[in-house]
Parts: sequence; C-alpha cells; structure tokens
Amino acid sequence: MSDIAVGTAGRTGGCLCGRIRFVVTGEPDYPHLCSCPHCQKRAGGPVQSWVGFPLEGLRWTGDGGEPTWYDTFPGETKRGFCSTCGSHIAAFDYNDTTIGINLSALDDQDDPCLVPVNQSFRGTAVAWLPQVADTQHHSAG
Ligand SMILES: [Zn+2]
Ligand SMILES: [Zn+2]
Repeated sequence: MSDIAVGTAGRTGGCLCGRIRFVVTGEPDYPHLCSCPHCQKRAGGPVQSWVGFPLEGLRWTGDGGEPTWYDTFPGETKRGFCSTCGSHIAAFDYNDTTIGINLSALDDQDDPCLVPVNQSFRGTAVAWLPQVADTQHHSAG
C-alpha cells in the first residue's frame, strides 16, 4: 500500500443516498468550475465543479451500479446522476479516455490537487458570485 504515489491512490465518492458509489484512480486532471447553462440547470446552482480521471481507473461500486445517464449533447456528451436522490456525479464525452467527476461527489475534496484552477463559460456566469481565478499556469506541479 505504501508504494502508491500520492495522487494515484484510489479516491472514493458517491451520491447523497449512497446507491451510486465509485472509485477512481490516477492523476486528477484539470479541476475547474463550470458556469455553462447546462451545468447551472443541472446543479440547481450557479456552477458545477469538475475534475477528470482516467476512464480505465473508474469502477462503479455501489448497489445502484452506474448512474443514470442523460445526453446533454446527444451522441457527444452524457451526464450521470443518481435517479433516486438526484445527485450529480459524472460527465463523459463519448470515445474519451477521461471521465469527468463532480468534485462534490468525491468523499474527500480537501486534497490540494483538487482545488479548481479555472472556471469555464465565464460569460454565462451569474454576476453576483465571484469567479475562480485562472491559476493553471502558476501551479506548483
Ligand atoms: Zn443517490
Ligand atoms: Zn458546464
């Protein structure tokens, strides 16, 4: 166990009711907020928070199996949520090798490498909430 490098160990997560559970492994890729219209409608809030992980390291471990998928862009992008409690969990671009995970679905969001480094779709963001700065070019990585 001790030979697993920081950042590549399994991370667990799931939905509010616990039906959907997952493990992801590998390096987190580009944690960011998104204020696009799709994310706002789905979240019921002004932003969603996202981080990518290698698809090959993803396992659905809960009794509910995979989330319910909704094609936000048919044939291109689908978003996964729990059909029981409504929690938003994941997004997947068909044929991609990365799974997008909602930061809010992870059990532990305190890892410094999960701090959002940018915000997408600033132009459709609400005016009353400060935006996350673009720090991706200044990261200590
Ligand atoms: Zn649930
Ligand atoms: Zn979005």
